[in-house]
Amino acid sequence: MNKKYDVIVVGAGPSAVFLAYELIEKKSNKKVLLVEQGKSVDKRYCPIEKSGKCIHCKPMCNITCGFSGAGAFSDGKLSLYNKEDEDLHVGGILHEYIGVDKTKDLIDYTDKIYLKFGADKHLEGTEYKEEVKKICDKAKKENITLIDIPIRHLGTEKSHELYYKIQEYLLEHGTDIMFETAVKDLIIEDNKVKGVKVQNSNDYIEGKEECEEIYADKVVLAVGRKGANWLVDMCDKHNITTEAGTVDIGIRYELPDKVMEKINKYMYEGKFIGRVGRYKDKVRTFCQNPSGFVSTEVYDNNITLVNGHSYKEKKSTNTNLAILVSHNFNYPFNKPIDYGRNIAKNLNEIGAGKIVVQRLGDIYRGKRTWKEELENNSVVPTLKNAEPGDLTFAIGYRTMTNILDFIQSVDKVVEGFAAPENLLYGPEIKFYSNKVKITKDFETSVEGLYSIGDGGGMTRGLMMASCSGVQMARIIEGV
Ligand SMILES: Cc1cc2nc3c(=O)[nH]c(=O)nc-3n(C[C@H](O)[C@H](O)[C@H](O)COP(=O)(O)OP(=O)(O)OC[C@H]3O[C@@H](n4cnc5c(N)ncnc54)[C@H](O)[C@@H]3O)c2cc1C
Repeated sequence: MNKKYDVIVVGAGPSAVFLAYELIEKKSNKKVLLVEQGKSVDKRYCPIEKSGKCIHCKPMCNITCGFSGAGAFSDGKLSLYNKEDEDLHVGGILHEYIGVDKTKDLIDYTDKIYLKFGADKHLEGTEYKEEVKKICDKAKKENITLIDIPIRHLGTEKSHELYYKIQEYLLEHGTDIMFETAVKDLIIEDNKVKGVKVQNSNDYIEGKEECEEIYADKVVLAVGRKGANWLVDMCDKHNITTEAGTVDIGIRYELPDKVMEKINKYMYEGKFIGRVGRYKDKVRTFCQNPSGFVSTEVYDNNITLVNGHSYKEKKSTNTNLAILVSHNFNYPFNKPIDYGRNIAKNLNEIGAGKIVVQRLGDIYRGKRTWKEELENNSVVPTLKNAEPGDLTFAIGYRTMTNILDFIQSVDKVVEGFAAPENLLYGPEIKFYSNKVKITKDFETSVEGLYSIGDGGGMTRGLMMASCSGVQMARIIEGV
């Protein structure tokens, strides 16, 4: 007999997890299935921690896939908001669909769920208002905005524990989860969703054809950035309407904690945003990790990208953060994902499959960084297997100019930010897929097919992705 559910969710990242949680909270009688191509959270482990090198885990990268998605190995910084702010500045555009006030209520509600499952009660960035204001004023003079919002920091090891508790809670309360199972295709008839075609993740990556069909009248796409390529294919194949998307391309920057001391102490994460230099493109810092570690993540087609995280207990003496440039294209080229993927491919080749690292001073000197130079550098790289080289071979002139101009501007706010010994790792790219066109109820142009979280371009971060899941559950329950 064919399997039938009320709701099938593709993916089990934070957006999907909070959807399932909220349906339980609302005492829903809906039969729910989460289909996740990665493993359960307790089986997720990144070999880099022991061996120091990425072995391209099969069938799926453990950093980006599995229960709690990219959240499991994330630094677990939950970005909240300031009550007095009229707008929301980080985490995507959920508020454009449901309004700022409702989004703030959702953040409060979702934060309480994180607390219930063991998140640290302490909020970073709330004690030093005067000091933060001084830095914000200094930044303003450089045409840079420093976003000052409270942050709840879980830490990578705590994120794992917390999501494990939620996983067990969902399973105990009747949510079905298929792990190591990929959704290969959607079943759509007369522009109405009917279900999904699934297969074992090993068969999926080997390109096998045979699939199991599972039916539901509602299918929610919660595929995250990992599923961005798959989502593009689905949109093309099934005529799901999309809008032009953005791709954020840049580098991971690593510098001594000492330089970032004040920002780390007062705010934990300083989010700088500006349009400086000749191009006036939007450049921002993202995912700042005090005393953290630079890490790698592997995407489809074996693309290796750089990222970063920090632990609650294990500490380095460096801070790392992303510096990202938003790229929007228009006529005659509008393929942001292809553009980003090509840059990543080129840079991966230049690094012989590894992340490339270069000293800032070497970029100014117009030369690559050599192994011996890196070994004697005062900023010691925390990503041990990064390949010293030349990022400028692959990162375009406009992107690199934006990054360098931005670093110089931030240096006027944070002394030492542009020191020649600081390290740039690449590529760091945030693929947001083409934005899937959705209604205020998150429904795509196909009846019964919904899109939430980072994958369809609505959110960009743990808290907002989680909130989108809570809201999706309420939409499904009609409350
Ligand atoms: C190293 C790292 C550090 C980060 N640190 C932070 C941080 O400190 N703070 C913050 O706010 N954000 C952080 N992020 C981003 C954050 O993790 C994401 O914004 C968030 O996880 C998005 O949730 P999501 O549910 O939309 O998607 P994801 O978490 O990406 O989950 C999507 C899931 O869908 C699955 N999937 C995709 N396609 C299919 C398919 N066809 N079939 C079956 N399953 C599929 C994937 O395997 C994945 O598990 C970090 C990300 C990384 C990688």
